[in-house]
Amino acid sequence: MLCWLDNNKINICLTYLYRGKSGNCGGTKNLEVHHVKPFHIDPTLELDPTNLITLCEEMSKECHLKKGHLGNWKKVNENVLSDCVAIKST
Ligand SMILES: [Zn+2]
Ligand SMILES: [Zn+2]
Repeated sequence: MLCWLDNNKINICLTYLYRGKSGNCGGTKNLEVHHVKPFHIDPTLELDPTNLITLCEEMSKECHLKKGHLGNWKKVNENVLSDCVAIKST
């Protein structure tokens, strides 16, 4: 059940946010849903569209790790929306 919900959320995000593209490079492969603010701080942020961004995990680009987490999974980039170039151009 949880998995189904998670997949559904991800599908919503991939479909409506950035038209299924990485918010940073515009790539369409290995997309992950990144939370701008970690939702464990505030659970209502988990499905808030303004808190979600699609970022890819392509080996050569690693937009999710590099842009979303500043190269360290323990960090969170609070400026991810202004750092991601593909978003600015839409
Ligand atoms: Zn993330
Ligand atoms: Zn990317």
